[in-house]
Amino acid sequence: MTSKKKIVQASDLMSDDAKARAKATEADKPAPTWAPTPEAKSRALKLRIVAGVMWALAIGAEAAAIFWALRQDPVVIWVLIAIIVVDMLLAVGGSLLWKKANRLDPASREDNVRFWIQNQLGLIIAIIAFLPLIVMIFLDKDLEGKQKGIVGAVAIGALIVAGAAGLSIGSPSVEEYAEQTQQVEDLMGTNTVYFTNHGTKYHLYDDCHHINSSRTDEIISGTVAEARELKNIKDLCETCRKRAEKALGTKPEETTLPRPQDLPEDDE
Ligand SMILES: [Zn+2]
Repeated sequence: MTSKKKIVQASDLMSDDAKARAKATEADKPAPTWAPTPEAKSRALKLRIVAGVMWALAIGAEAAAIFWALRQDPVVIWVLIAIIVVDMLLAVGGSLLWKKANRLDPASREDNVRFWIQNQLGLIIAIIAFLPLIVMIFLDKDLEGKQKGIVGAVAIGALIVAGAAGLSIGSPSVEEYAEQTQQVEDLMGTNTVYFTNHGTKYHLYDDCHHINSSRTDEIISGTVAEARELKNIKDLCETCRKRAEKALGTKPEETTLPRPQDLPEDDE
């Protein structure tokens, strides 16, 4: 006689145990956090103020072009072009400082809208500082066709240059800094990395052959955030990562599957 046996899914049996373990490790390992040093924060603030002043002057230059230079009779082309160039230099300068400030004191991804605006503000300013002027140039009745073409092309070129300077690709975020700093600390026990003036990676060892070569005469030591701030370096050297992992000793993969003998044998 065979009694009806309950069929138990192996995954159900392990789930409680596995869940508990997962929970425990989660509690042990809170999400990494990162905050700029007070000096970095105050330097970022100063850079942002200067950037704001430069952008205000850029928009002022645009206003001078629209309300003064374009209203001259006749319009002096080279004066208009000179104003556009000044406008562009101010917009680009402001954007470079603004992006440096964002690397010193990055925005958080928690607020998507704010994150986008803070990182792309230079691009927004470039549009404000040139698009109205471009429209006014092409609507102007006093400019001859050829003049319109030249000044219009210069203004569009300036918009492209200023826009490219303002656009932020791979924007820095608090979360990214936290993760990368945690990774370095986990591997090395301390937040110290090495990088060079023209390198694109930060390294965990100052004798890594990628930086310790005849091509480099100076190696900079600093934190993950400093590598980003100074040289906009975003990535960890793979050679260094593998070396550090090897030095730590490869941890055996923790298996979450219960061994067969751990399953209760309920024979009724
Ligand atoms: Zn390396």
